[in-house]
Amino acid sequence: MPDLGGPSPNLAWSELACRDAGRTCYPIEWRSTRAVELAKAFERIREICGFPLLVNSGYRTFDYNVSIGGAAKSQHVEGRALDLVPSVPGKKALQKLREAAGQARSEGLIRGIGIYDGFVHVDTRPGKNASWCGPRTPIA
Ligand SMILES: [Zn+2]
Repeated sequence: MPDLGGPSPNLAWSELACRDAGRTCYPIEWRSTRAVELAKAFERIREICGFPLLVNSGYRTFDYNVSIGGAAKSQHVEGRALDLVPSVPGKKALQKLREAAGQARSEGLIRGIGIYDGFVHVDTRPGKNASWCGPRTPIA
């Protein structure tokens, strides 16, 4: 069955799928809950940026996360995280994306922010805010 559409106008299920060999789909049981929250954050960050965003990594299966050396309690495995890249090149766009993530957090849409050289991790983890810089987890 083709996995058409997505949780919001600018975010497709295919973008949220795991990057494993089988492109494991975003879990059905979270599509009306976690994906909705995530998509709301995504759309807001995109709106603040003013340019489209690419999803480097969305949902990850447990096994795939282990295989790429992801964090043990990765929010990607929980279907609550996105690694985002600006669709336009340059440091200015990346800086704008970082600022947009900060603003989305101040609006209560996300709680986790990870700043990396080429992308920004955002997540909707339950509980406390979390922030970090640098290669705590690899890109995937
Ligand atoms: Zn991430």
